[in-house]
Amino acid sequence: MKKKKIETIAIHGSMKTRSLENDTIVPGIEVSTIYEHRNGGYQEGDDKYIRHSNPNRDQLENVIMELEEGDSCAVFSSGMAAISSVFQAIESGAHVLVANDVYFGTRKLMWEFAEKWNLEVDFIDMTDLDLVGSSLKENTKLLWLETPSNPRLLITDVKAISKLAKKKGALVAVDNTWPTPYNMRPLELGADVSVHSTTKYLGGHSDILGGAVITKNNEELFERIRLVQRVQGAVPSPRDSWLMSRSIRSFPYRMRAHNENARKVADFLSKHPKVQTIYYPGLESHPGHEIAKAQMTDFGGMISFLVEGGAKEAIKIVSRSKMIKAATSLGGIESIWEHRKSSEGDESPTPDNLIRLSVGLEHPDDIIEDLEQALAD
Ligand SMILES: *Cc1c(COP(=O)(O)O)cnc(C)c1O
Repeated sequence: MKKKKIETIAIHGSMKTRSLENDTIVPGIEVSTIYEHRNGGYQEGDDKYIRHSNPNRDQLENVIMELEEGDSCAVFSSGMAAISSVFQAIESGAHVLVANDVYFGTRKLMWEFAEKWNLEVDFIDMTDLDLVGSSLKENTKLLWLETPSNPRLLITDVKAISKLAKKKGALVAVDNTWPTPYNMRPLELGADVSVHSTTKYLGGHSDILGGAVITKNNEELFERIRLVQRVQGAVPSPRDSWLMSRSIRSFPYRMRAHNENARKVADFLSKHPKVQTIYYPGLESHPGHEIAKAQMTDFGGMISFLVEGGAKEAIKIVSRSKMIKAATSLGGIESIWEHRKSSEGDESPTPDNLIRLSVGLEHPDDIIEDLEQALAD
């Protein structure tokens, strides 16, 4: 059968239930924590206990796996739990390279836990391929990156990084939360692991927390991730799994509109006199534009920009919006923005005057009107 398109996968990938005849179309929420033995005890593949498996979780894992074009997926109760599982699946004593412009939580995870897990970590600029090449060591087992990165939307060439890593036998993991499988499929580009905070675009309504890890052609690695999921138990509830699957069914259409609205907002911001620099890979002036064009379907819904007047002015501008909410996080249907450094704290390398905007699905004219009045003095 011909490969289904992403809109179709998003709808049908989580609709599968176990019984075949006269079944519900939409799967129900299965809340039982325990399952009865068959005559003669449990059989291979049977559900036994909810931490181990649950039908709603299976449905969610299946749809995300298909969206990412992987062959295995494990979902977690948060993006951070998903990220942690990958670092914990790496052998003790390994060296790992982490992009220096990553989600603040990932950086904090390394600061707080790498030593405990006996991982040697170097933070480097992953967009610099020569630097990546010379930073690989004999015991480098994992390269971790985001593209577009958070919050500066730096673009990293996933194919080129994967080639470099493969030569040394190291794995490449891409946090695909920002581009989403609608705009980029890291496994297709040669990465070994794709990771999500499903809290963001896949959930899409700022009302569910979740994470996912997807792999392809690496059962050994996946089994270790599965072990972390089942033994450490940071799993989503049946209700959260069900709601996440429900949200994902309309995700490709939401993503198209996020892409479209962000393009219009970026165009407006790039011409505004108060905006010093704009970070949005869809603009030809962005240094990573060509690579982004080659590895992504579209450029996503996130924009960061630097404003004249430093931190004070940036905080003031954010406080002046009427519709756009001042809040952290991203990927919801409502537009939100924040002075990023205030969220990340003083030790963060994020510029003082950076505002991060998650462009929502309101009419783009209304978003631009609000930006216009907030930026006016
Ligand atoms: C939000 C986010 C995370 C963390 O996910 P949680 O669901 O909040 O645990 C990780 N990576 C990126 C890129 C994010 O935006």
